This record gives sequence, structure tokens and C-alpha cells, in this order.
Amino acid sequence: MQYQERVSLRRWTSFRTPGRAAYAAFCHHPHELPQLQKLLPLNELPRLVVGTGSNILFAADYPGILIRPLFRGIHLVEQTDDSVIVEVAAGEPWHGFVRTCLRNHWYGLENLALIPGTVGAAPVHNIGAYGVEVSQFLQAICVWDFATAEFRWIAAQELGLEYRSSKLRTSLLGRVLITHVRFRLLRSPQARWDYPELARSLAAESSRTPTPEDIFRAVCRLRQQKLPNPRRLPNAGSFFKNPVLPLSVAEELRKHHPQLPLFPHGPDHAKIPAGWLLEQCGWRGKRLGNVGVWPQHALVVVTYGRATGEEILRFAALLRRSVYERFGIALEPEVLILPQAAWELYCS
Ligand SMILES: Cc1cc2nc3c(=O)[nH]c(=O)nc-3n(C[C@H](O)[C@H](O)[C@H](O)COP(=O)(O)OP(=O)(O)OC[C@H]3O[C@@H](n4cnc5c(N)ncnc54)[C@H](O)[C@@H]3O)c2cc1C
Repeated sequence: MQYQERVSLRRWTSFRTPGRAAYAAFCHHPHELPQLQKLLPLNELPRLVVGTGSNILFAADYPGILIRPLFRGIHLVEQTDDSVIVEVAAGEPWHGFVRTCLRNHWYGLENLALIPGTVGAAPVHNIGAYGVEVSQFLQAICVWDFATAEFRWIAAQELGLEYRSSKLRTSLLGRVLITHVRFRLLRSPQARWDYPELARSLAAESSRTPTPEDIFRAVCRLRQQKLPNPRRLPNAGSFFKNPVLPLSVAEELRKHHPQLPLFPHGPDHAKIPAGWLLEQCGWRGKRLGNVGVWPQHALVVVTYGRATGEEILRFAALLRRSVYERFGIALEPEVLILPQAAWELYCS
């Protein structure tokens, strides 16, 4: 384990905003966690576990401790005729794990190819793409609990996993560090390609039933075409969540905006693509100073040059205000903004 004081935040997130954290710790093995808890003033200062920072925006200095788990390893725990249980250490890169699954004929995660970040972060906001969410394959997580100073397993059902949210983003944020994640994956392909953009791309390529490998390749291609590479243009993927509204409210809204796309979300709710709302407000491809909206995807806020967290927040607040004024919908950030009060300040 290593730890440092007064670290630059620039290397800690994909937005690469400036600033400093009071402390940072790098843990190579879960056994180091009890020692870490004794060494650092963990109980007095705020703490945040960080994977690769591809879903975090620091708007100011961080007055606490950043902890990066670097644990590695992928193990087959159990195998039946139709499924496997695989245990993965939190520091494994997500995309590498998806590839390993395909190589071993463990199916289900292929729609989630090329999502940046680590396996440990995947359950936190229940990552999802192209019609699949990780919650569909999550069995349990092992955590180090800073409050009780012990390791414990938490079943997926206890995590309150919903669309881009879970207890790990609310009541458990900063309280637990995920050391391992267990997935239940399928041994025979049950490919999902009903998501319209994916279905169109696969149909254009071939008329045969797509295999999980076809889906993996199509998802990688689509993502490379439409998403900016954070190494070249700092960003955190979708800045806002797609709003979910009661069906009656969504249908009433559609009376005023007949083109409004609605996707079913459970029996009595509808999801609206936030990117479509932003496009209607004219934001696609717009740039103000160092911050802009990616021309291929209106939900992605990118920075040109070195933008501060405050510049990004000010810009995002403008996007949010214009959607609210036109549609009466208050967009919620998908990105974790720290401090949360900074965002509230710009939105008030
Ligand atoms: C170009 C781009 C495209 C993206 N596309 C998608 C997409 O299609 N779908 C999607 O869902 N997301 C997407 N994202 C968002 C992001 O990749 C995911 O949220 C990813 O899971 C974040 O992983 P990370 O390791 O960078 O986590 P971080 O950003 O470091 O952390 C995210 C959250 O998880 C917590 N956390 C991280 N590791 C742990 C741990 N071991 N224990 C406890 N808490 C932890 C952090 O405290 C924080 O709350 C995209 C981002 C980018 C930049």
C-alpha cells in the first residue's frame, strides 16, 4: 500500500479537472485495508473510493481521502449446466473482463463492451448500455465496511439496484469499498439485440441470427463511432440520466411535443432520452469557451483544453435550465459531482 498527501486531482478523473485532494491511498490487496484504516485519519475525514474516475467530476479541492483499489483476478467459483458464477476483483478493467467472458463462453455482458472503468464501480450506478444493465447478472459483492472495520458479502437484491442508481451511490457511498464482485453468467448465448440502434447495425451487417461475438463487435463499433475518447477530449460519458416519468405525465407531455420518444420503463413509467431533449434545445455540437456538447451525442459534455470543474458545472446548468424551460423536466446528473453543494448552487 502507498499513500500520499496533497495529490493533484488531474489524474484522478476522466474530466481531468484541476484541484487537490488532502490524501490518496493505493491498495494492492484487500488485506491492506485494516492497516489503511489504522494509518490514516479515515474516521475524521471524508473518503471516496475511486476506480478510474470516469464517472466523477470534482468541482473543487477534495478535503478527504481518495482510495484506489488495484486488486486484480478473475476466478470461476461455480459451474452448473446452464450458468457459471465468476468472482472478479474490483480493480480489473471492465472491458477486459467482458472480453475474458466471451473467450470463456460466459455470456450476458457483451452489450456492455467498451464501457470505461473498473469492475468494482460497475454495480455502483448499475452500468447499462444497449438494453442490458449489469444488475441482470450481478449475484453479490464483497465489501470492506469502514464503519465496522470488517469484510462482508452483500447480495445483489439488497443493493437497491435501479436505473443508474443503487444504495452504493447513496447511503453506502464512502462507507464501503467493494473488493470483489460475483456475477452469474450464462453458458449458452441468449443474445439481446432488440435495442433499436444495435438491431439496425446488426441487420445492416448480416441476415443471420447474431452471436454474442457479433453483438460485442457491433457495440464496440457503435461506441467508437459516436463517443469521444476521454484521453483526447476529457468527458465522463452521459452527463445526465434519461428522465423517468409516470406514463400519464409523459403522455400528456407528448400531446405538446408529438415527436417526443418514449420508452417503457416498468409497467407505469416511461423513459425519455435526455440527449433528444438537449438536441431539441439546440445544444448538439455547441461550444462555450472550454466546454461543449459532443456533436455525435448530445448527452456527452466534453472539454477542450483545460476546463475547471466550475466551468463544466456552469455549462451543464445551462443545459439543464433550457430543458426545464422548454419541457418542464429537471435533468439529474448521472456523473457524481463533488461537492454536491456546488451543483445545487448552479441549479438554484
Ligand atoms: C466515454 C464514456 C462512456 C461511458 N459509457 C457508459 C455507458 O454506456 N453506460 C454506463 O453505465 N456508464 C458509462 N460511462 C460511465 C462510467 O464509465 C461508468 O460509470 C464506470 O462504471 C465508472 O467506472 P470507474 O472505475 O471509472 O468508476 P469511478 O468513476 O472511479 O467511480 C464511480 C463511482 O463508483 C464508486 N466506486 C468506484 N470503485 C468502487 C469500489 N471499488 N468500491 C466502492 N465504490 C466504488 C465511486 O466512489 C463513484 O461513486 C461512460 C464514461 C465515459 C467516459
